[in-house]
Amino acid sequence: MADGRSNIALIVAAGAGSRAGGDVPKQFRRVGGETLLAHSIDAFAGHPEIDGIVLVIGEGQEDAVRAALGSRPCPPLVTGGATRRESVRAGLDYLAERHAPSIVLIHDAARPFVSSRVIDGLLAALQSHEGAFPALPVADTLVRFEAVMGDTVPRDHLYRVQTPQAFLFEAVLAAHRSWPEARDATDDAQMVRDTGHSVTIIPGDIMLEKITHPEDFGRAEALLASQPMISRTGMGFDVHRLVAGEELWLCGVQLPHSHGLAGHSDADVAIHALVDAILGALAEGDIGSHFPPSDPQWRGARSDRFLAFAVERVRARGGLIDHVDLTIICEAPKIGPHRDAMRARLAAIMGLPLDQVSVKATTTERLGLAGRKEGIAAQAVATLRLPATPVA
Ligand code: MG
Repeated sequence: MADGRSNIALIVAAGAGSRAGGDVPKQFRRVGGETLLAHSIDAFAGHPEIDGIVLVIGEGQEDAVRAALGSRPCPPLVTGGATRRESVRAGLDYLAERHAPSIVLIHDAARPFVSSRVIDGLLAALQSHEGAFPALPVADTLVRFEAVMGDTVPRDHLYRVQTPQAFLFEAVLAAHRSWPEARDATDDAQMVRDTGHSVTIIPGDIMLEKITHPEDFGRAEALLASQPMISRTGMGFDVHRLVAGEELWLCGVQLPHSHGLAGHSDADVAIHALVDAILGALAEGDIGSHFPPSDPQWRGARSDRFLAFAVERVRARGGLIDHVDLTIICEAPKIGPHRDAMRARLAAIMGLPLDQVSVKATTTERLGLAGRKEGIAAQAVATLRLPATPVA
């Protein structure tokens, strides 16, 4: 936003999703371990040219949205209307009242896999057009059928329209505000074009297919599984000094003990080792390079925000955490009674199932710094998957 321009993603997730089956609206159902909504949020949040996200939701869906997002920061929420057009309008009005962006990308949460290539292509197209959307050519034979079979429809110049659809904000706002209430509109691109603006298409993406019917979830799982991913492993190690009169925090849980760990933050040595393991797998430095101990804002900080940051970095790279394993090395206190609470807390911070989070403990037979109760050490290993770099 350095040049005063801002690009906002407006994600529409207001539907009840009844066609996809089940009681849960489809944007809150999971593919590849994450909700459809979380996939869309991660795609935009991880793109360097996107400055913010606004989410349009159904009435009373606030709690479901927060649950669907796990540990992610929740974007501003706007309550949508009875139709998609009303929901988009509500989002545009919200933006217009606050900080009207230069560009808005309007996206349906039912299309969870937005690639950075598509976002790049849309922003580039807006250099010379007021609107742009991804589209795929129609491959199947098309036929008219009204009671009896009619003519085949020529496929030339026919495309299937996808989202996100990107527009100069003022153009799409004006189109929505001037559109006659009673007139149908299939999508925002049609409205912007019909109000006299130039709208173009960019190459669509098979990954952007809409999830509409129950069987689409299986297809989306298969598509996701077919994406080439590479496995990465990172390790972390940390030590903090035990002193009287400090609180003892391990794995985001406060333990009753005569001594606590000293350090600039809450000195949660286990989380620090884990953060370094995740950053190591990403090859993105270490905890000290992101949260320097010399910076006063981290004095006394809860370490769970460091861990949430590391997890966010994985998501921003389009990755998944497969497993984390921690070993806490100390003579006292005993870790066993707190192990379940520690695993549950770490799983909650990372948004992972419990069976992907391991916490172990050992002593050092009264040898060394841990054995003399001078400090507590921790080591961690994180295994994750990152998208393989696409071949240009
Ligand atoms: Mg530390």
